[in-house]
Amino acid sequence: MGPATDPPDALSSFHAADKANDAPLIRVMALHALAYCERLFYLEEVEEIRRADANVYDGRRLHEELAPTDETLCLELASETLGLKGKLDCAQNRRGDWLVWEYKKGRSNQGQAWASDRLQVLAYALLLAEHLGQPVREGIIHYHGDQKKVRLAIDPEAALAEVQAAVQRARQLRESLERPPVAVSEKLCRTCSLAAECLPEEEIFAQTGGGRPARLFPADDDRQIIHLVEQGLSVKREGEQLVVVFPNGSQKTLPGLNIAALVLHGNIQISTQALHFCAAREIGVHWLSYGGYYVASLSPGAGQVQRRHRQYQALGDAALAGQLAGRLLAAKIDNQWRYLQRLARTQNDLAAAPGWQAGLETLQTAVQSIQDQLAAASRAELPAPELLGRLRGYEGQAGRAYFGLWPLLIKNDAGGLLTFSGRNRRPPRDPVNALLSFGYALLYRDCLAALLAVGLEPAFGFLHTPRSAAYPLALDLMELFRLLLWDMPLLGSINRRQWQAADFDCSPNQVWLSLDGRRKAIQLYESRKQEKWKHPVLSYSLSYARTLELEARLLEKEWTGQPGVFATLRIR
Ligand code: SF4
Repeated sequence: MGPATDPPDALSSFHAADKANDAPLIRVMALHALAYCERLFYLEEVEEIRRADANVYDGRRLHEELAPTDETLCLELASETLGLKGKLDCAQNRRGDWLVWEYKKGRSNQGQAWASDRLQVLAYALLLAEHLGQPVREGIIHYHGDQKKVRLAIDPEAALAEVQAAVQRARQLRESLERPPVAVSEKLCRTCSLAAECLPEEEIFAQTGGGRPARLFPADDDRQIIHLVEQGLSVKREGEQLVVVFPNGSQKTLPGLNIAALVLHGNIQISTQALHFCAAREIGVHWLSYGGYYVASLSPGAGQVQRRHRQYQALGDAALAGQLAGRLLAAKIDNQWRYLQRLARTQNDLAAAPGWQAGLETLQTAVQSIQDQLAAASRAELPAPELLGRLRGYEGQAGRAYFGLWPLLIKNDAGGLLTFSGRNRRPPRDPVNALLSFGYALLYRDCLAALLAVGLEPAFGFLHTPRSAAYPLALDLMELFRLLLWDMPLLGSINRRQWQAADFDCSPNQVWLSLDGRRKAIQLYESRKQEKWKHPVLSYSLSYARTLELEARLLEKEWTGQPGVFATLRIR
């Protein structure tokens, strides 16, 4: 005899209940985010993007200062029935009745509770009631910003209905692969901790194509990128600090809060404890070989499944990949052309130099051809796989023309040291190529870090094909920045006579940078990253370092429903 079968209705309701029981508990803080903005909930809870900015740290500090007394409790509670878990700031017993306290750093809503704070208190009250086995009918929210204490009378039944509806909505969003739309109220975005990741203004700009986006993307990350180049150094952890130990035994302390990333060049040791510390604080760790080749990175966190899933779907579409590749290459080559034009405006001899006009025309033709091919592909007159092949062909021609003009751009070759006769690599065979390769390796590291910060999978690109040593998407993003972040400052430094023979180590078949040379190159590159410029489409100023991250975020928007702004940057 087979097993007894449940009637279909009973079975489906059993499965529904079972599924709900299996669903992970929702954090009460997440309900707070949900009531604030559904997209914020999605970014934090589903995509696991959390940012510990100054406000969040202040809030944490405030909570740490709340010590429990004889009459109060700080409790961490969870309930399968409610589908919730959370930590109460404070539960207080007043003559046998319990009430919930919630402390907020900011100001009240003109003497009233904000809807998101109210929902949070209702959820805590229900958790506390279940824990104690008695109803909780009162909550107090203390707003430190304006020193207001807002009392909430709680009707347990109404609270249960409200919180259950919110939990159900939270579960729906968790199942979804689509990000909810941006908040209707702009005011919410101005105080949102994830505005820099969400880019609501840039999204509205992409939709409407007009108006100047407000500046919600932060101008700069104050934290530093520390390059360690001296061979034989080691890095260890001491409390909240990283300590660099030099070969002679001396030490330098680096406060963890001030570090965005460590870049270890060559033979530098780092302890497991220091790596754990970096992973927990989202401090990137990147290894480069002594010669400047990128080796590996520590990328903290394993979340972002939904983002990567969307990326695979989008970039698996050859038509979209082709369009992105075309826009990227058009931007790269157009910027090279603009740069050369700019130089010719100040250097009269260039326009008359042999090959100059022909080189410029090749670049211009390449941009026009790419645009023509993109238009043909979008009218379905050109198959997507063929498009990519043609784009690469135009890129190759443009690259040869661009580097073919470099000998004209080098005004001071330091007595023949910096003679340039074309691009070569792996290994570089002259000092200019050694400089180009070293700078591009630094740029590659930054592009990779930007993609990882945004939660994209660097192994899945749209222009470059997978290679063992480099991530295609990082190579793709680099194309936008080679000129801006390295070619331009490098040519400037060469013509300002900043490089000497001592900056290079030469063997018959290879040239690489000496310790001094690497220090100089890193300084040049890092100071370029801090320079500010005005994004010509978004019309706000930001450093080149932030532009890298901005473009990575705009790239993701190409397949999250707000396309059109990625790779629009142009130099003037
Ligand atoms: S920036 Fe605005 S739209 Fe984006 S998550 Fe925050 S509140 Fe929501």
